[in-house]
Amino acid sequence: MSTIGLIGGMSWESTAVYYRLLNERVRALRGGLHSADVLLHSLDFAPIAEMQASGDWATAGHLLADSAIRLERAGVNCILLCTNTMHKLADRITAATRVPFLHLADVTATAIRKSPSRRPLLLATRFTMEQAFYRERLAAFGVEAMVPDAEQRDDVHRIIYEELCRGRIEPASKARYLDIVAAAVRQGADGVILGCTEITLLVSQADFDIPVFDTTALHVEAALNFGLEAASQAA
Ligand code: GLU
Repeated sequence: MSTIGLIGGMSWESTAVYYRLLNERVRALRGGLHSADVLLHSLDFAPIAEMQASGDWATAGHLLADSAIRLERAGVNCILLCTNTMHKLADRITAATRVPFLHLADVTATAIRKSPSRRPLLLATRFTMEQAFYRERLAAFGVEAMVPDAEQRDDVHRIIYEELCRGRIEPASKARYLDIVAAAVRQGADGVILGCTEITLLVSQADFDIPVFDTTALHVEAALNFGLEAASQAA
C-alpha cells in the first residue's frame, strides 16, 4: 500500500477531515481493521496566515518546500497539499521534490469535466478567488469558474478565516453562503466548487440542486486512486 504524504495544518480543521475521510475510504475499500497509510506534516497556521496577509509568499514557499522534502525523506509515495490557497506555491513543492504531487485544481477540474457543469461558482479564500493561479489552472481544463462579487467575496473569505479555520460552524454563515450561491445560479452558475478545504464543514451537496465539487473529498479520492494505480502497476 502506498504512503500518502499530507502537508496540512492550513487549517488543521480541514486536515482532520482529510485524515478521517482517508481512513473511512480505506476501511470501505479494504474492510476489517484496514486504515490509511499516511505521513502528515502539520504546520502552524498562524505565521502562514500572516505571510498570506502580508504577501510574503516567498517565505511561505520555503516552508512548503521544506515540508515536502521532509515527507520525501520519510518515504511518501505522493504528496497532497491540504489547502487550495497554498497551491499558489505548488511549483515550490514540485521543484523541491520528485514525489508525485496531486494538484488540487487539476483534481477538481477533472471532476468538473466529468460532470455537466461548465460554469461553476468558485467559493474560496480571496487569494484563490481573486488571483489567477487557481482559475487559470481550471481554465486549462476548459472550466471557466465564476466568482462572487466583491462584497460576497469579503464574506466568504472572512467566514473561512474567522470561523471555519477556528472550528466555528455558524448557521447564519451557512445561510449567507447559500444566498451567494443562489445569486450566482440566477446569473448562470451550474455548479459550486467548495474551493477551500474548510467549506465542506459548512455546506455540502445536500444543500444544493446543482453539482457540488468538494475539493477536500475529491483530493482524498485522487490519493486513493493514485495508490490503487500504483498497486496495480506493481502487481
Ligand atoms: N484551507 C483553505 C484553502 O483550502 C484556506 C486556508 C489557507 O489559506 O490555507 O484554501
